[in-house]
Amino acid sequence: MRFADIIGQDDIKRHLISTVKENRISHAQMFLGREGYGSLPLAIAYAQYINCQNRTDADSCGECPSCRQISKLSFPDLHFAFPVPATGSSKEKAISDTYFQKWAEFIKQNPYGNYQQWLDFVEAGNSQGSIRVDESNEIIRKLTMKTFTAEYKIMIIWLPEKMNTDASNKLLKLIEEPYPKTLFLLVAENSENIISTIISRTQLVKVPRITDTDICTGLQSKGVDAVEAEKISKISEGNFGTALEYCGHTADLANNFELFVKLMRTSYAFKAADMVALAEELGSLGREKQKALLSYCERMVRENLIMNRNLGKLTHFTDDEGGFAQKFSRFIHPQNSGIIAETLDKAYYHISRNASAKIVFLDTIITLARSLRIPAA
Ligand SMILES: [Zn+2]
Repeated sequence: MRFADIIGQDDIKRHLISTVKENRISHAQMFLGREGYGSLPLAIAYAQYINCQNRTDADSCGECPSCRQISKLSFPDLHFAFPVPATGSSKEKAISDTYFQKWAEFIKQNPYGNYQQWLDFVEAGNSQGSIRVDESNEIIRKLTMKTFTAEYKIMIIWLPEKMNTDASNKLLKLIEEPYPKTLFLLVAENSENIISTIISRTQLVKVPRITDTDICTGLQSKGVDAVEAEKISKISEGNFGTALEYCGHTADLANNFELFVKLMRTSYAFKAADMVALAEELGSLGREKQKALLSYCERMVRENLIMNRNLGKLTHFTDDEGGFAQKFSRFIHPQNSGIIAETLDKAYYHISRNASAKIVFLDTIITLARSLRIPAA
C-alpha cells in the first residue's frame, strides 16, 4: 500500500515521511483516530515506505521486492497482531496467525473496514475478538527472530484496546526497550481502554477525520459520480468506510430518511396500534437494512442535537434532512439525546446478535416515545 492509495491525510503523510528522511523514526508509535479515518492503511503505507528500496520524497515505489511483498502482506519482516475470536478448538490457538489468510483478504477488500466488519468477516458469531497473552508470546517470538531482509522489523498491532491486561503487561518491557531496528506501530481508536503504561511508552500520531473534500475526491477515484460523491461526503463524518457503505446505497439513504421520519413521528404520537404496526414493518426488513437504518438514525440524532445546541458547529445534512431538522431538532436536546443514542446503539447490538427484530423495534419505539417527551431544560 502506497501513501497515494490513502484518502486524504496529507499532513500525516508528510509527518511520517519526514521521520524517515530525518532519520528519527520513533520505535513505538500509536496511530490514534476513529474508525474509517485510515489509521491502519497509513501504518501499512508507512511500513512500506520505511522498507522500500527506491523510495522518493513523496512515496514508496510500489515496485521493488519489498513493496510488492508488503502490498500482499507477505513481507517476512512485517507482522500483524489483531483481535481474534476464541477458536473453540484446542488444536487451533486464538492468535492472529490462525486467521492470517482471512486478514490479508479483509485488508485487500477494504483497508477501511472496522472491528465489527472484521468479526463478521471471520464469522465470529456471538464471540468478541481480543488480543490474548498467547498473542503476546507470539509477538515476542517473532520479534526475537533474526531479520530476514528488511532494514526494519515492524509489528503492527491493530486495536490494542482489545488487548487484555495480561497481554499488555507481557509486552510492556519490549515496547519500552525494543530490540534494535524493531518498530511497534499501534493502531488504536480509543485510548481510554489501553493501559496508561503502554500509552506513556508510545509516541502519539493523531489521525484526524478525513475532510469532506478528500472523501468526495476519493469516492470519485473509485468511480462514484460527482453528484453522489458530493452528497455522500457531507454525511460520512470523515469516515471513508461509512462513505463506501453509502455508495450504491443512495436509494437506501432516501429510504432510511423516510423511515427515520416515520419512526420519530410515530413514536412521538404514542398511538399503540401505529407503534406495533411500525415495529412489524421495520422488523420484516432484512437484517443488514435494519442495521443500516439504525446507524442512520444515530447519525440523525447527533446532527439534530448539534442543530439544537446551535453551537456554531457545522451540521452535515442533505437538503431533505436539513428541512426536517428545522422543526424536529427542538425535540433532541441534552436531556434526552443520551438515552436515545443508547437505545439505538443497543438495538443495533441486539439485531447484530440475531435477536427477534420485531421485539427489538417495538422496545426501541416505546423508549423513543418516552424519551421524545422529556422536556428540554
Ligand atoms: Zn519500493
